[in-house]
Amino acid sequence: MAEILNTGEAMERALALLDAGQILAIPTETVYGLAGDATSGTAVARIFEAKGRPSFNPLIAHVSGLVMATEFARIDPLSEKLAQAFWPGPLTVVLPLLAGSAMHPLVTAGMDTVALRMPQGFAASLIAALGRPLAAPSANVSGRISATTAQAVAADLGDRIPLIVDGGPTHVGVESTIVKVEGETLRLLRPGGIAAEVIEAITNRPLLRDASAGIEAPGMMASHYAPDAGMRLAVAAVQPGEALLAFGPRRAADWETAATMLNLSPSGNLREAAANLFAFMQELDRSGAATIAVEPIPHAGLGEAINDRLRRAAAPRPA
Ligand code: AMP
Ligand code: MG
Repeated sequence: MAEILNTGEAMERALALLDAGQILAIPTETVYGLAGDATSGTAVARIFEAKGRPSFNPLIAHVSGLVMATEFARIDPLSEKLAQAFWPGPLTVVLPLLAGSAMHPLVTAGMDTVALRMPQGFAASLIAALGRPLAAPSANVSGRISATTAQAVAADLGDRIPLIVDGGPTHVGVESTIVKVEGETLRLLRPGGIAAEVIEAITNRPLLRDASAGIEAPGMMASHYAPDAGMRLAVAAVQPGEALLAFGPRRAADWETAATMLNLSPSGNLREAAANLFAFMQELDRSGAATIAVEPIPHAGLGEAINDRLRRAAAPRPA
């Protein structure tokens, strides 16, 4: 069972776990977060694994303030104004990802945007002390209700994580509001802890509530990262000139004919494979091969989310 420590006594242990690529539950003002180092693929893969999420949707990266945000994203004046007004607090802004930043692609689901927010209290102190952002979706098993107390986290995830930091009941109790600035336009991607009207008043702009604009339904991410190359999944044999995305110790037939090959996990570890997935897809795509052949990936554990993402990448796309 997870150890439960109060915010006053948890800092050192929390930092040690995060530094080791482990995950833990932390209080924020919205709901409890299942937190891991957003620059560590292993940590982020552990988050999906512990939640049992069947797909890789992008996660919010929690930062210690605007200065840390500028290490990862390009911040336009309107987004900066929003951050000044509402951080720390339940407002998340979606921003263009800085190329070459240390944000792990599993956090952004391989997209070129990143959702950032600065939380209040223990979470903010923890991030500042770590010096790196924390990916932190709600601390509950996928499909269950978000946890707003340490006890609710323990009931749901207690046997899957080493530590729950108890900060008492969260005071906002719903997830953050997510907005995105597009030129002069502000879009509401998810309603949440800060009312849309308050955001409109501060920015003096209407908040477009175009439900189809967000990525809230994971299915809507389908076209957000599709490689230029075609994809062939669960291949038994490689065709000459294909780029091979391999998995595990055994190779598909004719693998020697591949133009290039990357192995998601030579030992067949699904957590390692999840951590490598987006970066390897991007790298094979850059190789210029017309097709990426993917070896079969088992469906157990994180395999379900990996296969879901591969299916999306392979799906027919709009011309
Ligand atoms: P949470 O589970 O609270 O961490 O929230 C994750 C949600 O944030 C996702 O379901 C998306 O709706 C949204 N999100 C995260 N990153 C992005 C992004 N780059 N672009 C648009 N929405 C995002
Ligand atoms: Mg949730």
